[in-house]
Amino acid sequence: MRTNQDKKAGERSPSRRFEVTKIRKAFPILQQQVRGKPLVYLDNAASAQKPQVVIDAISRFYSESNANIHRGIHWLSERATEAYESARTNIQHFVGAAETSEIVFVRGTTEAINLVAQTYGRTHVRAGDEILISTMEHHSNIVPWQMLCEATGAVLRVAPINDHGELLLDEYEKLLTPRTKLVAITHVSNVLGTINPIRRIVELAHYYRVPVLVDGAQAAPCLAVDVQTLDCDFYAFSGHKLFGPTGIGILYGKAALLETMPPYQGGGHMIQSVTFEKTIYNKVPDRFEAGTPHIAGAVGLSAAVDYVRAVGMESITAYEQELLSYATDRISRIDGVRLIGTAKEKAGVMSFVIDGVHPHDLGTFLDSEGIAIRAGHQCAQPLMSRFGVPATARVSMAFYNTREDIDVLEAAIRKSIEFFR
Ligand SMILES: *Cc1c(COP(=O)(O)O)cnc(C)c1O
Repeated sequence: MRTNQDKKAGERSPSRRFEVTKIRKAFPILQQQVRGKPLVYLDNAASAQKPQVVIDAISRFYSESNANIHRGIHWLSERATEAYESARTNIQHFVGAAETSEIVFVRGTTEAINLVAQTYGRTHVRAGDEILISTMEHHSNIVPWQMLCEATGAVLRVAPINDHGELLLDEYEKLLTPRTKLVAITHVSNVLGTINPIRRIVELAHYYRVPVLVDGAQAAPCLAVDVQTLDCDFYAFSGHKLFGPTGIGILYGKAALLETMPPYQGGGHMIQSVTFEKTIYNKVPDRFEAGTPHIAGAVGLSAAVDYVRAVGMESITAYEQELLSYATDRISRIDGVRLIGTAKEKAGVMSFVIDGVHPHDLGTFLDSEGIAIRAGHQCAQPLMSRFGVPATARVSMAFYNTREDIDVLEAAIRKSIEFFR
């Protein structure tokens, strides 16, 4: 069955040679049955699955190279340091950063944004200044700014969106003023799937001399990102959504900006020298990496980046676009379904509500069919209010999903509607 569907997808597609059957075999977790049914995993925007090469890289690190880094004079420590630092270089190339020192290892997108809020924010933001975000932000790109505003007396401004879930660029530009100290905006919405025109957003902000932080949590797994082309000042993403491990993520920052920022946390490795009178901080990026970092996580993320590169980001983007349009067509034609997020430029995320079926009930029903989706406020309560819904069901795709997954989903949604009505 799966093979037939794959063939069909292949015949119609420009990404003809996208070998999804082979790709699926690289992800051991997808081979499982759950609740007696073959797993259909459509919750990739929450966390993506890991190919065997990533699992192996982590396991090999612990079996062969584990030690603390940057400290030991012994062989293993040198080896672990080399693995950690070459992961940094690999990720630098993956996002097109000019310098290795512009890549800071953090826990994930959330920590990356908090780091910028607490360091850039505390040094550059004063009472009456403004931070500009958008209506479609994840809580991770709202709450750290509210905390900063509370601490400094700055004001949070929100750029509105239209009913399709597209940023209103004119309104956004109007909100850029001499008081604006930072724009923080998502590249791809985790709820609507909207792909924001980051290049243009940055251009407008820079015209007013405002730096831009991009939340790349959803974009990094499905779009080729080049931070120098985007010209953004910060770019944040999480390893676990990019087919790598949890607990590791990246903050990219332009070197000139990172240099102006004080440390985030104090501890080992972030210092050059310590006396009880005065501590001299380490250079960038070490200054931001206090304590023992997630070394194995960095190694795993680097392996994930290698894997994605080998599959080819352009092919991944094209394949997911095709799958999204197939899914949009199939799901939106179901009676009573309303899509939330119908932007022209979209990534493989589909939120919807169904008349008479609560998203949570749908999620539970689909789970009993072996289908994993997310139901709830999607960590974006203000966005839910914007669309007048308390929650949505969200289907989010990765390049290992197939048309057959969508067919199974469609049938199960139809069944659930019969069940609940
Ligand atoms: C998942 C997500 C985050 C938070 O990522 P964590 O890995 O939980 O830190 C932030 N923004 C967006 C758009 C996301 O999808």
